[in-house]
Amino acid sequence: MESFDGLGLSGQLVEAIRQMGFESPTPIQEKAIPILLKGNVDLVGLAQTGTGKTAAFGLPLLQLVDDTNRTTQALIVAPTRELSVQITSDLERFSSSFMKLNIVTIYGGASISEQIRKVRRGAHIIVATPGRLIDMLSRKVVDLSSIKYVVLDEADEMLNMGFKEDIDEILSTTPKEKNVWLFSATMPREVREIAKTYMRNPEEITMGERNQGNENIDHQFIMVDERDKYMALKRFVDYAPDIFGVIFCRTKIDTQKIAEHLIKDGYSADSLHGDLTQQQRDRVMRNFKNKSLQLLVATDVAARGIDVSGITHVIHMNMPDEMEYYTHRSGRTARAGKREFHLLSLRKRSRKNSTS
Ligand code: AMP
Repeated sequence: MESFDGLGLSGQLVEAIRQMGFESPTPIQEKAIPILLKGNVDLVGLAQTGTGKTAAFGLPLLQLVDDTNRTTQALIVAPTRELSVQITSDLERFSSSFMKLNIVTIYGGASISEQIRKVRRGAHIIVATPGRLIDMLSRKVVDLSSIKYVVLDEADEMLNMGFKEDIDEILSTTPKEKNVWLFSATMPREVREIAKTYMRNPEEITMGERNQGNENIDHQFIMVDERDKYMALKRFVDYAPDIFGVIFCRTKIDTQKIAEHLIKDGYSADSLHGDLTQQQRDRVMRNFKNKSLQLLVATDVAARGIDVSGITHVIHMNMPDEMEYYTHRSGRTARAGKREFHLLSLRKRSRKNSTS
């Protein structure tokens, strides 16, 4: 597909996308947009962040939502605040030139009264993290009775984060006659179960390009003794002075320790983990996004859903416990259309190797 023209999107949406500089649809957009525009379908899309999945569901959703009807027609549930904010901002960018839409983001760690005020003013689309949405539902602030479309974004991650019960509650609060669009980077049993319970004959798009991002990534690893890992990291960063990367650690303590060492040694680094306040996290992310910070040292959960373009390296200080996390970590780099990235794992040298 050469352009967005043949996908069934309105001229205004095609023009808005063009203005944003998107020239041709990504593979998932090419597949998902015509299916979702049919209106009455459930969809399971296997896709990582970075494949253009926000536009893949966002563009059809904008076309299907009626901005002259003030009820809440669509609900998008995403695992983190960062991802929710990102989705809202993408939807606003696609639609603001020709639609009068209220898109309200609700997430924990920020004033609930402000979010309540915005919801009460009328939200055509709500983008929410599960926990805060449940809170809003129990306060009877959010009315999901007219919802026509529910998008579950990064479903596997929401389940990994322990949101299964919340997702169940949210889905059973929405009307029976609705469509569910579920996106997930991986398809563990729990995600399949959600699809089985809440979706009717969903269309499935398993992207042949599921690992497309990975094809553009050069996976490398270095064998070092545990005690030499930090030195190896420094050596590597010195060797790549233009690095703009995320360094993943398994624990908050490691994250903080490595960031502190790097800062002390004169590198542009900071840490991102769950013990920071929302303001601290915002500050770190702002600095990273505007590239005044070169190295973001993060835990898997905190770095979830981060959409920062131009990340050149993903470094694993420790390998993740779960294979899925490796996929998610990799998805931070090799964003749509970009090439040549490096991924470096610092692996513990086994006894056999260290003596040979
Ligand atoms: P996502 O997978 O939705 O997080 O998108 C990843 C990045 O690719 C975002 O920064 C989008 O703005 C960008 N993007 C999405 N679709 C396209 C497209 N068709 N052409 C160029 N960039 C795109």
